[in-house]
Amino acid sequence: MGKRRTFFFDGLGVSGGVVLGPAHVLEQLGYEAESRTLEPEEVEAEIERLHNAVSMAREEVQELARTVAERVDPQQAAIFDAHVTLLGDPLLIGRTEERIRRDHHNAEFVLWSVTRDIGGQLQALGDAYFAERTHDLYDVSRRVIKFLSQLRHPQGDTIPAGSIVVANDLGPADTAQLRRDKVAAFVTNAGGPASHTAIMAKALQIPAVVGLDFITHYVRSGDFLIVDGSLGHVILNPTEEQIRFYRERAEEWRRSREGLEEFRTLPAETLDGTRIQMEANIEFGSELDLALSQGAEGIGLFRTEYFFIDRKSLPSESEQEEAYTMVLAAMDGRPVVFRTLDVGGDKIANSIPTPPEANPFLGLRALRLSLAYPELFRCQVRPMLRAARGRELKILLPMVSCLEEVWEARRLIDEAMADVETEGRGLPERVLVGAMIEIPAAALQADVLAAELDFLSIGTNDLVQYTLAVDRVNKLVGHLYQQAHPAVLQLIHRVVRAADARGVPVSVCGEMASDPLLAMVLVGLGVRSLSMSPQLIPPVKKLLRSMNVSALEELAERLLHLSTPTEARAALEEAFREHGAGPLPSAQDAWRYLPEA
Ligand code: PEP
Ligand code: MG
Repeated sequence: MGKRRTFFFDGLGVSGGVVLGPAHVLEQLGYEAESRTLEPEEVEAEIERLHNAVSMAREEVQELARTVAERVDPQQAAIFDAHVTLLGDPLLIGRTEERIRRDHHNAEFVLWSVTRDIGGQLQALGDAYFAERTHDLYDVSRRVIKFLSQLRHPQGDTIPAGSIVVANDLGPADTAQLRRDKVAAFVTNAGGPASHTAIMAKALQIPAVVGLDFITHYVRSGDFLIVDGSLGHVILNPTEEQIRFYRERAEEWRRSREGLEEFRTLPAETLDGTRIQMEANIEFGSELDLALSQGAEGIGLFRTEYFFIDRKSLPSESEQEEAYTMVLAAMDGRPVVFRTLDVGGDKIANSIPTPPEANPFLGLRALRLSLAYPELFRCQVRPMLRAARGRELKILLPMVSCLEEVWEARRLIDEAMADVETEGRGLPERVLVGAMIEIPAAALQADVLAAELDFLSIGTNDLVQYTLAVDRVNKLVGHLYQQAHPAVLQLIHRVVRAADARGVPVSVCGEMASDPLLAMVLVGLGVRSLSMSPQLIPPVKKLLRSMNVSALEELAERLLHLSTPTEARAALEEAFREHGAGPLPSAQDAWRYLPEA
């Protein structure tokens, strides 16, 4: 075979690191199921495969209906009855079976085309009731196809070790399943700068580039790739010269990480003696070792929702209690902030039924969902209270948009406390309730919120999204997702001032805290507590330890009054160069270009 052409792709680098290796293209069943022609003798086995998947889907729906009826709301469980009926409907499953026999195509392909035919007919009726049934129909078919595809390709297990995974898109739950020992890096067509997929990649320390448009059209499994997760570069069939260049970059990256060892145990103290609290964001208990080994002084954000997504039924209270107890024990008295469920947006929890929404990031997400299903919320708070018996418990409410939501959440927390009290096994010594500031309304009313809450945590990932009206997972507007936008900085400044005035602790737990250049600005704006992906703690510490707060305050003051995000970025990079650091290929990498002390 002759030499294949080299292709260079420029995407969004969302998790640093340089990797060279073979591609493994993940087949994904999105809205187009792949077609496969069957040999005549395969037909009956294929029909049996269809029926097996239908039975599994039925079991899953019934179990969902049961848990939802018991733990969320019996009325909500009724939507699943329609799903069970559809799963026995001869129109859908019977017709699929007929067509597999007639056309000799695979079950997922036929089921999907039958679904689309019926869906089209329902929608053509132009009736709201039937339009709603179309959603049920698609939902049911997707559930069956999920089982069909799992029956056919157990993908997680077939990824050869050291592969670079290439996929159309990976949800946060898919990413969480990628194993670090198998997956060297991943690259996707879709994905935005602050998606939870990007955050998971950082947490797992897997270099990643997203927003590559059509990379799956070019790459085949086994092709040789280079991925630079800091610069956002992917090269297919690289030249010898490119291989040499990126091997050096990979080596340089490895060496710079090694040089960080010493920073793990040192405090994040600036040259003029200001101490910054450095905490970790975690999604799973399995990240605790990493958080501790990187020198986390606490868990500033435990995204408890990962416990609820990617599973068929809701976790039991005892299962949750065990997980929360484990986190508190591992942190051994250091602070731990439990954020209550933040599903919705790009985090879909199979175990919680939510209606389809046109704008999920503006919909029934986070605290709104918890308040809509009070028992779901109490089911989460009770295990937290039990796990923190006799000690301090910090509960963080995500996506607060007004004070009434805080009152309502407090009322439900009080109810959960009364439930636990009657068990007679004791309560936490103190329960502190905090709000995430991630909606501009909350930032503008930070003084009002600070007056009623025990702590505030600024979630910049969403604050940027909602302030700039830029979907954090949409690559088409990724260039507009500007975290250093003066409007964003002004809101953060306002929150810090309001919290300081009330003597209420405030921290930043969005990804801005883990971008070294932006962490400089946050400290300049008065933030003294940062929480980030664990492995970014040492690099951010390294940078802060080389800075003077007085200079950072001047820098922040200047940025607050600039007109455009581009000017803000330029001013930041200039300040960095003035600091005696080298030229910056990527702002994310700033810590690697500091002058030697
Ligand atoms: C944020 O919005 O900044 C945040 C930390 O929460 P999440 O990324 O989970 O939405
Ligand atoms: Mg958020």
